Amino acid sequence: MTMTAVDLAPSDDAAAPPRLLAAGRSAGAAAHLAAFGPRRGLGRPELERELERSGLTGRGGAAFPAFRKLAATTGRRAPVVIGNGSEGEPWSWKDAVLLANAPHLVLDGLLTAADALGAARTVLYLHGSALSPVAAAIAERSDAGRVELVEAADGFVAGEASAVVNALQTGRAVPLDRVRRLSEHGLDGRPTLLHNVETLAQLALVDRYGGDWFRGVGDPAQPGTRLVTVTGDVAREGVFEVPTDTSVVDIVARAGAEARLAAAVLLGGYHGRWIAPTETGAAPGEAAGAGVVHVLGVRRCGLAATAAIVAELAAASARQCGPCLFGLPAMAERFADLAAGRLAPQAAAELARLAEVVDGRGSCHHPDGAARLVRSALRVFGRDVHAHAEGRCLRSAR
Ligand code: SF4
Repeated sequence: MTMTAVDLAPSDDAAAPPRLLAAGRSAGAAAHLAAFGPRRGLGRPELERELERSGLTGRGGAAFPAFRKLAATTGRRAPVVIGNGSEGEPWSWKDAVLLANAPHLVLDGLLTAADALGAARTVLYLHGSALSPVAAAIAERSDAGRVELVEAADGFVAGEASAVVNALQTGRAVPLDRVRRLSEHGLDGRPTLLHNVETLAQLALVDRYGGDWFRGVGDPAQPGTRLVTVTGDVAREGVFEVPTDTSVVDIVARAGAEARLAAAVLLGGYHGRWIAPTETGAAPGEAAGAGVVHVLGVRRCGLAATAAIVAELAAASARQCGPCLFGLPAMAERFADLAAGRLAPQAAAELARLAEVVDGRGSCHHPDGAARLVRSALRVFGRDVHAHAEGRCLRSAR
């Protein structure tokens, strides 16, 4: 994870005041309680009902409805609740920013979920940078002594849900196969509820103010606000809290740039998809993944940028499954060919074929994410492919 000097930009928009970041920078217990008041700590049926009403979806990338995840966590043994702040996506800093500035809200959500389920263990899995602010927040309150803080492993796939459980169980931060659902058989063999830390902070708001309040802003299909990390060719990279119906144009404007003047915008990070400037008038929706927006300026080559990402994805795999052992390295080689102008049309056709071959064939979604990225690059950078085939680059000519 890389963090620039500008790591937090609270909203200055009076029509869309911040929710998660309402207590301000580095909020201690007093500022947190002044902004939000105490948590209610709803029981399981009430929490499930309010979450369903709220429409809250996971903010870790999969956008799964939070109430369904809660309802699915069942079994004879007391469950485990895990907050995941490992944030393996290189262009995402939003969880680190949230934990540094609103650790009490994350703890509120974690403890509310744990209490509702009668959890046997309550774990926060975090990057080293977040340990200190969260430990300080725990020391300020009387209800969080049971929270186990565990430093997360580095690595792109280390934040995948089953990799987190594997890391906590065995110390190996690689995904498990999908034979068993974590909600039924996860950490210690117990039913396990694992949420991204932003999802837990949002859950803490639903606990306090209810589902109808939560729906008061944002896209009705995916209500509320979300944290977005904006990087790339912008005036100020940073993390911004925006309503979920905010267009890509307006998100990029918060970072001091114009999306319609870019070469392209990548939504969702390394597992995401490129969109053309003409497509930036809409909100990113589920394409935002874990809230990553990367702006490619007109002087940067989208094929070279994508080739670099695909090479990182190939190197980042756990090398347990066929698509990652063979498919991703082949995709990385062909994309390097494309970027270098070697056999460009053939390389593009081979990449489209490889994307079909690896999609849905791994134990986790790592190959699917790589396939999505490659397909979107072939679509958005089609003119670049033809130019590279002729030995030119549209971008370096500018
Ligand atoms: S698909 Fe790739 S990253 Fe996922 S478990 Fe298999 S080898 Fe590991």
